Amino acid sequence: MERVVDAAIVGAGIAGLSAALFLGRAGRSAIVFDGGPSRIESVGEVREYLGFDGLPPRELLSRARAEVHGYGIGIKRHRVSSVTPQADGLFEVQHGHSVTFARTVVLATGLIDKLPPLSGLPKVWGRDLRVCPCFDGYEVQGKRFVVFGVPKRLVHMASWVWMWSRDVTVVSQHAFTDTELERLRLLDIDVIADEVTGLVHSGERLEALMTRKGKSIACDAAWIAADMVAASELAAHLCDVDEMGLARVDGAGRTSRPGIFAVGNAADPAAHLAHASAAGTNVGPHIVMYLLEREIERRKFSRKDAHPADISQRVS
Ligand SMILES: Cc1cc2nc3c(=O)[nH]c(=O)nc-3n(C[C@H](O)[C@H](O)[C@H](O)COP(=O)(O)OP(=O)(O)OC[C@H]3O[C@@H](n4cnc5c(N)ncnc54)[C@H](O)[C@@H]3O)c2cc1C
Repeated sequence: MERVVDAAIVGAGIAGLSAALFLGRAGRSAIVFDGGPSRIESVGEVREYLGFDGLPPRELLSRARAEVHGYGIGIKRHRVSSVTPQADGLFEVQHGHSVTFARTVVLATGLIDKLPPLSGLPKVWGRDLRVCPCFDGYEVQGKRFVVFGVPKRLVHMASWVWMWSRDVTVVSQHAFTDTELERLRLLDIDVIADEVTGLVHSGERLEALMTRKGKSIACDAAWIAADMVAASELAAHLCDVDEMGLARVDGAGRTSRPGIFAVGNAADPAAHLAHASAAGTNVGPHIVMYLLEREIERRKFSRKDAHPADISQRVS
């Protein structure tokens, strides 16, 4: 017989692992599916996460995994390919060549930054090519910044990073509105009407940006305003999603489909590690309540007097 768990947690980033920790300590059976690297693994050091400042992300994640293991929660290196609701209220979770049935599913699948295919990008991504000064603006404050990327987020990004340095240049072919140009002018932000085509680096250190018109723009840090999309299509098949494919959730992490929850970047593109962790912890009690209510309903109909532990089968 296939196993049934209280919760299938899809994604082993900080959001999924935080949910797993809560559920493990609540005595619930759960399994975490780890389908690949976490978004944070592109950086060398974690920032802006109290208690872990400067820690390599792999160390943070391996500590978190060990803690989750300690409460009997298994972590499987499988990507989940589908989650199918069943007539009896369970969810069939397909992973690798196996199937697990779950009473609830937590989507902790994160998001993907849509990066342009620029030469040199893989070397500097997460290092001198950055996404948000909240994370690592401190390390490069006052240095030469260049901002480029998708037009709709450019002006916001350029004025936001200006709070960390007065030397900011935007490179874009975009036809900015008068209001946008005025905002940039008021902050003395230069605009170069061109397109970034490559990144010149020495090891992981960014030295300059190359442009379509053949310019080389020297800089110390580049900020990319990138589009973001859900890292998995599972939410789109199961519940209401936004234009990025991220699950729409209420304050408890509940999606539009009962029994399906979503946490971290899978539901909130602005979530940092601290928020993702808090969302994972926050969803825990709501899942426990959901399981409890289902068990009470089951007893009402079957009039059986099973022990509450019957709703959970531990898996390792
Ligand atoms: C360059 C960069 C620097 C950053 N620096 C910081 C920082 O210093 N401090 C900070 O607080 N935040 C930082 N962040 C943000 C941080 O990465 C996110 O807040 C955090 O990773 C969100 O955690 P999460 O668990 O929601 O998603 P993730 O950590 O991305 O985890 C999602 C997991 O789900 C897995 N997955 C996806 N689909 C499936 C599937 N179908 N089956 C199984 N598994 C699946 C993914 O492989 C991944 O492991 C940074 C982000 C970037 C891009």
